[in-house]
Amino acid sequence: AAPVAFIAGVSQAARHGILVKGGGALEALARTATVMFDKTGTLTVGGARLVAIETAPGESADDVLRLAASLEQASHHVVASAIMAAAAERGLALTLPSEVRENLGSGLEGRVGPHLLRVGSPAMVFGTVRPPDWAVRALRRASWRSALAVFVLVDGRPAGALLLADELRKETPRAIQMLRSTGIARIMMVTGDRADAAETIGAALDLDGVLADRSPSDKVDAVVTEQRLAPTLMVGDGINDAPALAAAGVGIAMGARGASASSQAADVVILVDRLDRVSQAVAVARRARGIAV
Ligand code: ADP
Ligand code: MG
Repeated sequence: AAPVAFIAGVSQAARHGILVKGGGALEALARTATVMFDKTGTLTVGGARLVAIETAPGESADDVLRLAASLEQASHHVVASAIMAAAAERGLALTLPSEVRENLGSGLEGRVGPHLLRVGSPAMVFGTVRPPDWAVRALRRASWRSALAVFVLVDGRPAGALLLADELRKETPRAIQMLRSTGIARIMMVTGDRADAAETIGAALDLDGVLADRSPSDKVDAVVTEQRLAPTLMVGDGINDAPALAAAGVGIAMGARGASASSQAADVVILVDRLDRVSQAVAVARRARGIAV
């Protein structure tokens, strides 16, 4: 392949806000047969919005939100900024957290004032214990609204759940169609979120497969499995996606919000907040390879 065609391809991609890290990345992009998308922040806007607070009997919604937002100050996850924004809107004063541990793709633990908190997915907060009735209702409501459910455990007590709307990006259906018309035969979703929320979106977009409840290392396994079958492109946004992006034949980071770990792990970074750039990247790479022969 003539390097000049690759240089042309890389600079053409750059004009669309697509940063391709060299000729190897462009070549891998051109070969793509399967595309795997992360859900939250990639297929969906990621600028999630708090829509409801569910509480255990006797708990105060403001207290649940204040404690969760205090802890989330330590996280860069998309839900963290939504939770902090909601607390700010209600004028709640936050406390600095300490001893925070983040389990990427499932949630956080740490201290806020005198309290030991755990904030995250139902699986992280309840483990294998059956959730109490109010929490089961909260989960059902989250499913109806296809919202993310973030549970708050205070000193070992399930105190409340924050429901966050996680809407599809407006360009997502078109971005999927564009990939199909580029000839991509297999389009999958892999997410840390619950199966019901993920499957609703998978069905709406007519995806070929949905893998839910996947930890960051499960995402790597999923990518490696696909990559064995056909050259696989993984698209993700958060730091929890960085290992999967690195494991894929080619990794694309949605980098407009500056999640630097995923951008560093990726071969291609999309610098504008637009998912349709994914199929453009593939198309540009294919053209560059076409010219190069
Ligand atoms: P996706 O794979 O779709 O991007 P994530 O793996 O980022 O989703 O997150 C999966 C789930 O883990 C979220 O829906 C949320 O319930 C929980 N979660 C992850 N990080 C956090 C956090 N910082 N605070 C609260 N919940 C979190
Ligand atoms: Mg994500």
